[in-house]
Amino acid sequence: MKKLKTWLGAFLMALTLIPASTWAAGYTQTKYPIVLVHGLFGFDKIGPVDYFYGLSSALRSDGAKVFTTQVSAANSTEVRGEQLLTQVKQILAATGAAKVNLIGHSHGGPTIRYVASVRPDLVASVTSIGGVNKGSAVADVILGVAPPGSLPNSVLVSVTNGLGSIINFLSGGTGLRQDSLAAVKSLSTAGSLSFNRSHPEGVPTSACGEGAYVVRGVSYFSWSGAKPYTNVFDVVDPALALTSLAFAGAKSDGLVSSCSSHLGRVIRDNYAMNHLDEVNQTIGLVNLFETNPVTLYRQHANRLRNLGM
Ligand code: CA
Repeated sequence: MKKLKTWLGAFLMALTLIPASTWAAGYTQTKYPIVLVHGLFGFDKIGPVDYFYGLSSALRSDGAKVFTTQVSAANSTEVRGEQLLTQVKQILAATGAAKVNLIGHSHGGPTIRYVASVRPDLVASVTSIGGVNKGSAVADVILGVAPPGSLPNSVLVSVTNGLGSIINFLSGGTGLRQDSLAAVKSLSTAGSLSFNRSHPEGVPTSACGEGAYVVRGVSYFSWSGAKPYTNVFDVVDPALALTSLAFAGAKSDGLVSSCSSHLGRVIRDNYAMNHLDEVNQTIGLVNLFETNPVTLYRQHANRLRNLGM
């Protein structure tokens, strides 16, 4: 009898343990590979692999196949998009997968949208994080095309200085590249709206609403932060506080307004995160009082998995 009880106890314990570990093991196991696409400047100093800091491994650990891509750090959306398309085809050939799940940050948002727009048959989902989908007021300021009189001169100077500090930090002090102008034009409001006319999939038709959830078989998602300064130990935060002035009080993550980040299904547009927190930078220095970015990426992989993607 005692033996039976021991056996029953062990059996029940095994029952509670096995399903839990099985579930955890497949939590991020998407049907299609996840492809991560970096933003402007690609953090030359940090490198393409660590741009999404600690996120590839966090996704892989519970089953996802994850690929990190590298496109031009600073170039037009179309040039970056063509580069990405080539890499997507290589990933599909290497894995034998029929499609990919694209996840892009910042300029990576429009870049993945380009691929889904020209080759929707190769893409299961597009996820834009802090994506510059309707342009950035910071780019407008840099190009000198901010609406006249909309911002005092001192603010324009602060925004420019702030962006200069961010670029210097991310690119290891190499400054603006020759093709930076093409990038900034793509990221301006006018450049983004022009891109959207050719590639409208998932873009909200209203100023700050949601876009279509599924277009030509591709599912569209987005999220973003809305808090420029989040961690006193992160050296980039003061610069993001300066660039956030370009938005004249509108919600932003320091470089992109919440409304501009909207694409397809908006998961949330006001996490207490700044533009770099969205990719768990600088090296994991994020807001301690907000959901960790690693958790958001894992939850999203699980979301894609549950949708059969
Ligand atoms: Ca940070």
